[in-house]
Amino acid sequence: LTDVFSKRKRSQIMGRIRSQGSIAERHVANLIQKQHYKFEAHRRDLLGCPDFVFPRRKKVIFVHGCFWHQHKGCNRATCPKSNRAYWSKKLSGNTRRDLINRRLLLKAGWKVLTLWECQTIVSGIEITSKRINRFLDS
Ligand SMILES: [Zn+2]
Repeated sequence: LTDVFSKRKRSQIMGRIRSQGSIAERHVANLIQKQHYKFEAHRRDLLGCPDFVFPRRKKVIFVHGCFWHQHKGCNRATCPKSNRAYWSKKLSGNTRRDLINRRLLLKAGWKVLTLWECQTIVSGIEITSKRINRFLDS
């Protein structure tokens, strides 16, 4: 099966999806800072390299891109029509890794909150902000 997009166009599209993920992360960073919590970003020594780490509270927050981490039931999480075998293997590998990382972090005594990119857009930001608050204060 051939891609409907050229190689260059495809890589532009994928690049855009990737950077939308990091925009979501910035939104969440703003929310956390507004609430005056102190975090460490991207601790590589922790499984899955969580986006936000709160060492004293022993809590971590992941901000997952809906596409790369396949947000269930989300319309951003569709598998590309071309190269289906490649993508489905890659994406299911991501979700499997997420699950394992989460399990191991919990086992090691960390509390884990996963936020999705689509929950950080304007309409969802208030609820997300409350969830962060509840998670960190509990
Ligand atoms: Zn989503």
